[in-house]
Amino acid sequence: MEKRELVIIGAGPAGLTAAIYGRRSGLDVLLLEKGLPGGQINTTDEIENWPGVKHASGQELADMFREHAEKFNPEFREAEVEGIEFKDGKKLVLTDKGIVEAQAIILATGASFKKQGCPGEAEFTGRGVSYCAVCDAAFFEEQEVAVIGGGNTAVEEAVYLTQFASKVYIIHRRDSFRADRIAVERALSNPKISVIWDSVVEEIRGTDMVESLALKNVKTGEKTVLPVSGVFVFIGNEPNIGFLKPLIDSGLLKTARGGWLRVNERMETSIEGLFAAGDLIDKYLRQVVTAAGDGATAAMAAYAYISEQVHLEGKLLDPEEVTAVFFSSVDEAQVRLAAEIEASPEWNRVVLVDGYKNSRMAEKLQVQSLPSALKIQKGEVLKRIQIRSAEELKGL
Ligand SMILES: Cc1cc2nc3c(=O)[nH]c(=O)nc-3n(C[C@H](O)[C@H](O)[C@H](O)COP(=O)(O)OP(=O)(O)OC[C@H]3O[C@@H](n4cnc5c(N)ncnc54)[C@H](O)[C@@H]3O)c2cc1C
Repeated sequence: MEKRELVIIGAGPAGLTAAIYGRRSGLDVLLLEKGLPGGQINTTDEIENWPGVKHASGQELADMFREHAEKFNPEFREAEVEGIEFKDGKKLVLTDKGIVEAQAIILATGASFKKQGCPGEAEFTGRGVSYCAVCDAAFFEEQEVAVIGGGNTAVEEAVYLTQFASKVYIIHRRDSFRADRIAVERALSNPKISVIWDSVVEEIRGTDMVESLALKNVKTGEKTVLPVSGVFVFIGNEPNIGFLKPLIDSGLLKTARGGWLRVNERMETSIEGLFAAGDLIDKYLRQVVTAAGDGATAAMAAYAYISEQVHLEGKLLDPEEVTAVFFSSVDEAQVRLAAEIEASPEWNRVVLVDGYKNSRMAEKLQVQSLPSALKIQKGEVLKRIQIRSAEELKGL
């Protein structure tokens, strides 16, 4: 079976940044992407909040990210990940091109727009149904369009659409918006915008292209038909984590409300060795700049995990018998003690572990305080003592 150090799933801003940091740390990196490298930004016309680049199209920025990652030679592979399994201590990435065993995995599969789910939506997607105003607004010059939703994206994108369309209807299932006050005021004061409150779209109709929407008022039950040539669906987004369902359903992989993945500040998920970065995690702001930051953190944490777990496991847990000293590299006396042990021919077989940096291993072996000396037999701690000098190792 193919074995790799770091497997990154998804080559959007998070995955590509993780690849850059992973390779620069010297890891062997395999980057799996089912579509176009660059991720969601490929679908936008304009990005002007990525520092250092005042203005670029999404595709230009995506190309820059990909070229930058390529400079460090991660292996790019076009493959769709269908699942992740943990078997006999192994992490397996199941793809449509085969199985890869990884020492650490970074999930960076991003998010997608929620679908409205009514008849006609799938049929007319790309033929009048859109999820991206910036991408498609220009196709509706001087035409009437509708926006579905009541959050910030819906309200802001409706205002954006007025630059092109002759009329924009916002269809919202409630009688007030969830969007912030300034966005709402801007929309309601725009003469091209009309709001259709308390209403849902029951069907999107047309022949070749969208021609009208069948609406239902949820309070009165009244049904009407609204003639429009385009409909923009902005009812939220969701993480791309379908392939993780068995892990989530079993309770191993923890999620927050809305299904977003829970991570800590090191981008560690609830499963050891499995990291997540970018739009799919539970966070406040889903943008290129935050996805890239998450990707960098995840790669560095994965690097630390691989060095710590894999390297130390081989040194501490696999041998028949081993003596180890856990010390702290931020305590001068303990650094001196480690140097003393290292220099002594009597103790040159002792494995020295920086317990401050390798906290996971210290935790695993239940090291409560530093410095500590441990006698380990086939991964089991037989004896542990506190030491202050190399001489005290004789007590082990
Ligand atoms: C229309 C639009 C306009 C936007 N405008 C801006 C903007 O102006 N400024 C800004 O900062 N942000 C903007 N964003 C948001 C920004 O694009 C996202 O926050 C960012 O792309 C998230 O990066 P990511 O790497 O987490 O995920 P994504 O960009 O979603 O990348 C995830 C990648 O994973 C791949 N993938 C998914 N599932 C699998 C699988 N099973 N196997 C293999 N590969 C998989 C996908 O194909 C995709 O390439 C915009 C988004 C959209 C849609």
